[in-house]
Amino acid sequence: MAGRLKATKRMKNIMKWYYIEAKYARFLGKKIAWITSGGPVEPLIAMNIIPIYPENHGAMIGASKMGGKMSEFAEGLGYSSDVCSYTKNDITSSITKESPIGGLPAPDMLICSNNICGTVLKWYEIQARKFNVPLFIYDTPFVHTEFTDEAREYVNEQTKEYIRFLEKHTGKKFNYKKMKKVGKLSLEAMKLWKKVLETAEHKPSPMTAFDAFFHLALIVTLRGKKVVVKYYRQLLEELEERNRQNIGAVDNEKYRLLWDNLPIWYRMRWLSEKFASHQAALVADTYTQAWCGVIDYVNEDDFLSSMGEAYTRIHLNVGVDQMADTIKKFIRQYDVDGLVMHSNRSCKPYSFGQYDIQNLLQEEDIPVLMIEADMTDERKFSESQAEARIDAFMEVIKQRKKEKQK
Ligand code: SF4
Repeated sequence: MAGRLKATKRMKNIMKWYYIEAKYARFLGKKIAWITSGGPVEPLIAMNIIPIYPENHGAMIGASKMGGKMSEFAEGLGYSSDVCSYTKNDITSSITKESPIGGLPAPDMLICSNNICGTVLKWYEIQARKFNVPLFIYDTPFVHTEFTDEAREYVNEQTKEYIRFLEKHTGKKFNYKKMKKVGKLSLEAMKLWKKVLETAEHKPSPMTAFDAFFHLALIVTLRGKKVVVKYYRQLLEELEERNRQNIGAVDNEKYRLLWDNLPIWYRMRWLSEKFASHQAALVADTYTQAWCGVIDYVNEDDFLSSMGEAYTRIHLNVGVDQMADTIKKFIRQYDVDGLVMHSNRSCKPYSFGQYDIQNLLQEEDIPVLMIEADMTDERKFSESQAEARIDAFMEVIKQRKKEKQK
């Protein structure tokens, strides 16, 4: 067995200091901005503002198995059980201060981009009222088929407005010089993250999607900082070394799978062991790829003016046909034997199109497993049902592989 990646310890340390710095932001004379996971963080880094991600905090809550209880609390306040559990975790935690890190430091401003979903608009409005802080909405048009010149012009205007908003609420001039450096570092981190994920093309794969879910935290929260670039270089070296030595993350890897949608944070270990017991490695996923999927649209020398397009074209903001094309690409790139779809009760934009995507994948002739759950609300997960489905799915995969080898 490959054991734990050495970089894991370093990442935990970086995240620990990130949250400590945020906790003492007032003493350090820094401002805090809460921002959505798909939001343009680089201008915040350039302005020395600490970005905080309630979704990353929600994932921590989920991994600590606190999500069900926190969703229940929010439902008790009157929020529907159908509302995204990241939202409910955040609403609850900002009232009770309950979470693995004792809640998030209060924001000075909120930055919300609707490139991931419409839920975040209402969520951030609620929190802007609660904390009585300004809210900036980075509005990205949906890319049904193509990204038009009008859309480009529109999002570039949003970028200018975003900068005016930051200048107004920090009382400082925007630092364009620093922005250039931050943009380069952000792109470099995305390229490294891409290479990290591509190491899983190797057979056996040196990492699984469960590793990717964990090591994703830095590219989400702190891209644009040097520490992130250094970290992913170290991780990449470690994975490449595993490939040189043919060390797989799963013992005797025989089957390779692709995961779609967010992780089921409170069942990561169980799922990882369950698939490993079938000698199956989840070698890739559509979720973590989202943080390097738009590299081609970023201009290294002019990050700011290309940022709008890149943030608009992310995986959740494009049509179902484009999403299916991305999955088809990964099926071939990682040479997978099956697709595991997490039908996520919380995340409608990720889950609603999955049935249609399955139909669009017919020509790939690949078995698909659907697991019904929620990324942080463990009340929506049935172990016995998931276990029965995984076992049946793996039987189909094994049978097919046997037939192919005849
Ligand atoms: S609905 Fe989906 S994309 Fe929106 S905040 Fe929740 S998990 Fe994220």
